[in-house]
Amino acid sequence: MNSRLIEPGATLGVMGGGQLGRMFVHAAQRMGYFTAVLDPDPDSPAGRVSHHHVQTGYLDERGLAQLADCCAAITTEFENVPAPALSVLAQRRPVAPGAGAVAIAQDRWREKAHFMQCGVACAPYALIETQQQLESVEDALLPGILKTARLGYDGKGQQRIQTRQQLAAAWDELQRVPCVLEQMLALVAECSVVVARGADGAMVHLPPQLNLHRGGILAVTQVGAGVIPDDRVRLAIQATEAIAAGLDYVGVLCVEFFVLGDGSLVVNEMAPRPHNSGHWSMDGCDVSQFELQVRTLAGLPLTAPRQHSPTVMLNLLGDLWFEGCVERSPPWAAVLQLPGTHLHLYGKLSARPGRKMGHLNVTGASLEQARSTALAAAAILGIEPF
Ligand code: ATP
Ligand code: MG
Repeated sequence: MNSRLIEPGATLGVMGGGQLGRMFVHAAQRMGYFTAVLDPDPDSPAGRVSHHHVQTGYLDERGLAQLADCCAAITTEFENVPAPALSVLAQRRPVAPGAGAVAIAQDRWREKAHFMQCGVACAPYALIETQQQLESVEDALLPGILKTARLGYDGKGQQRIQTRQQLAAAWDELQRVPCVLEQMLALVAECSVVVARGADGAMVHLPPQLNLHRGGILAVTQVGAGVIPDDRVRLAIQATEAIAAGLDYVGVLCVEFFVLGDGSLVVNEMAPRPHNSGHWSMDGCDVSQFELQVRTLAGLPLTAPRQHSPTVMLNLLGDLWFEGCVERSPPWAAVLQLPGTHLHLYGKLSARPGRKMGHLNVTGASLEQARSTALAAAAILGIEPF
């Protein structure tokens, strides 16, 4: 008997009300759970579809108590949820992932130390917290990317650096907060792996995803036989499993990798939650990453996900809502006329350039078919071909 089993009919909670929380809520509700979301925004995408919505800050004692009162277990949907809030909740309820794992993922320096401990290579890097560390950076790290150690996402808090002079100016611009300088690598591709790990240590994974980023934001994900060479696939899965096991992780974890010119694989970063690059699983796989999150949280069994359709995912950013300066709704009817298109919109009330508004999953009988339909959809929407 699994002592952690939480049966449908109970309430599952999530810290954060963004799109990932919304898709978790949908998956939990479909399986017969009630849901509660903690997010201060009354219009948050997840708050608006959840049975309960606690509208307080993430560290508000009353809010946290209210969430713990109504939930049998609690998860998180964004990595910047304060780790102390998870520790407070964990005194009363099972919390997955745990505060310790989230705290490591929140800090690029600790994250890289963990990767190395697990024997997984990352880009050469240096910590910059002091003037002395800034001055003693090795030449080999330039050109590089300066990244804030904490609170970065979608390429925010990052600056590309060519010279020492630029490095000093960029660190000033980032208010001299703790940063990591990474050597700029020549990438031939990027990929990611989503794993789910139960409290008993059982692990399953989605097939690795090939990702295309534009301007530091994920633009396109493709999943199908041959998109990533088989030996890289094995390595990426092994590395991701080692990283999850090393954290004694419970929940869904995504690890992003760079593929270099010589075929070697280098880890970029991890997200302690479902990930944008795993959204294809909602339509291309028999178990989505959000169902995996529900299963790990509720102590339900994990079965190996089976991809049933080659899938291409297009991210739908707020830019698509503008024709020049005029805001409009993108031509959904024309897109949905294409067979195999599945539209997911997050219910955000206003569009802004770069804001993640939704995604379009395109499934096909073959990867070629999914790709050609996705390219047709991209042309209709005004997304650059890939
Ligand atoms: P998110 O959390 O949304 O994935 P982020 O802000 O944490 O993004 P990173 O994943 O660190 O950003 O970087 C964003 C993108 O910038 C990467 O996917 C990659 O395309 C590029 N990039 C980052 N670091 C390097 C590097 N060392 N060398 C080459 N390209 C890089
Ligand atoms: Mg990233």
